[in-house]
Amino acid sequence: MRNVALCYVRKSMVRTATDAVSPERQRANCQAEATRRGYVPEFYEDAEGHRSGRSEKGRPGWLAFKDQLARPDVAAVIVESLSRASRSVKDLATLLDELQAREIALVSLKEQIDTATAMGRAFIGIIAVINQFESDIASERMKMTITFKREHKGQHFGYTPFGCERDQAADGALRPSREGVWRIGDAVVVGLRDEPPFADEARAAQVWRGYHDALGRCFEWYAEGDTGNIALRDRLNAAGYLYRDRRGNPRAFDENDVRRMLAAQRVYAGFILNGRAKMGAGVLRAANFAPIVPRELCDRVQAMMVTRRKYGAQFIAHRKGRLYLLGDLLYCGACGQKMGGVFQDGKAFYRHTRAKRQCSAGGQTLAEPLDAQVLEMLQRFTVPEDLKTRIVALARQMLQAQARPEHRAARATLAKLGRKLENLKELRIDGEIDRAEYARRKAEIETQIQAAQAHLGDTPPDAARLEQLLTKIDRIADVVREGSAPRKKELYRALFERIEQVDGRITRAIPREWARPFFKTA
Ligand SMILES: [Zn+2]
Repeated sequence: MRNVALCYVRKSMVRTATDAVSPERQRANCQAEATRRGYVPEFYEDAEGHRSGRSEKGRPGWLAFKDQLARPDVAAVIVESLSRASRSVKDLATLLDELQAREIALVSLKEQIDTATAMGRAFIGIIAVINQFESDIASERMKMTITFKREHKGQHFGYTPFGCERDQAADGALRPSREGVWRIGDAVVVGLRDEPPFADEARAAQVWRGYHDALGRCFEWYAEGDTGNIALRDRLNAAGYLYRDRRGNPRAFDENDVRRMLAAQRVYAGFILNGRAKMGAGVLRAANFAPIVPRELCDRVQAMMVTRRKYGAQFIAHRKGRLYLLGDLLYCGACGQKMGGVFQDGKAFYRHTRAKRQCSAGGQTLAEPLDAQVLEMLQRFTVPEDLKTRIVALARQMLQAQARPEHRAARATLAKLGRKLENLKELRIDGEIDRAEYARRKAEIETQIQAAQAHLGDTPPDAARLEQLLTKIDRIADVVREGSAPRKKELYRALFERIEQVDGRITRAIPREWARPFFKTA
């Protein structure tokens, strides 16, 4: 008998004591709804720690909940609000499809909808898209801050490259690492060059191997023509150098360490890249730090790389970071095989293999014109006026509910950090901590302050952007056109189940069930 209602409860990132959607409250609301419908509730929760709804990873409750959907006794799924369930359009769209296939109803209390009707499903789909935009805006804001600092201040972001350390007193600028290892026979002690583990000069057995020295050696050898990653790895290891992993532990070099070091030669030369070094990113501007390795040496490494054509023009063109927007969606209309993205001779294609099955059509087509056709198809996506009004009202409500506690929390955090900083100063004045300790703790607190300020300062513009977005929710093509490539890809996957093409023309596009009412037939 179908009489079980699966209830999913999630504690969000930001929450205050008075929050109306505390896990306890969510539980009570779901319980009441299940009882009202005559179902037996079963609870799945991700209520501990900070679990973001953006990704399924790190949400064991959600994954356990999804595992139950195949059970024959499940009649409904109840969530307090859709944003509690998932903030990823793709995840939610996939869930909707699965629920639809299994004839399980989805009930969202806050949005007051259930998916028994096609309109209810369509409505949920749209809300999911809006939710996605909202969290996209949040992560984009972070990216914009980073981009700004990269472009205008020459700041380096991301993992600290090997052989470098960060100068916290100078915006975290990179500088040569002073760290390395002391080798005493078979033993290894991490430390600084001017602080040998045995002060006794007579202990000649202790040998210094600095991380920055290892980097310099590797570059010299490469520039001189010893260009194999494996050979360089062996040479570094034989000379007693060690690699420092991200947790700060020394270990032997492997060939990937060597590859990464060489790929980052423009960073070591004192430049900021417009992407990731290992993806072949180009130079954006001069960095706010002096070259880590002499620029002349870096230039020789670069010249050698180009000669070897290993990271030369071809490599960079290939790794421009093009996303195949229709990846996972596109099939050959003639033979039914899935088509994947490939890059060849400076052009992007979708292609399927010829070997498996005979195909009457060409197995390959240019990616760009095909992507454009899908965008054109989105012009037919429209939202009826009354539904649009409901969606806009609801989204505003969601936005307000989320923005306010976030503001409050950020302000409280800022006040607390301010007090912490004051206390720290007193400790320093009283001489209870030394200068280095003071600098370290101060930098730590300042980083936290910056993070809190970012939270606070950008909330109103977000609201404005979402408003803009809402007014054109029925013109999804425009929204998609302006979006980033990853967002486009995600939206396509949320909107479509399958797209087929023959010789560069789209022959069939199947929207997901929720989106079907919105596509006017041409
Ligand atoms: Zn085919």
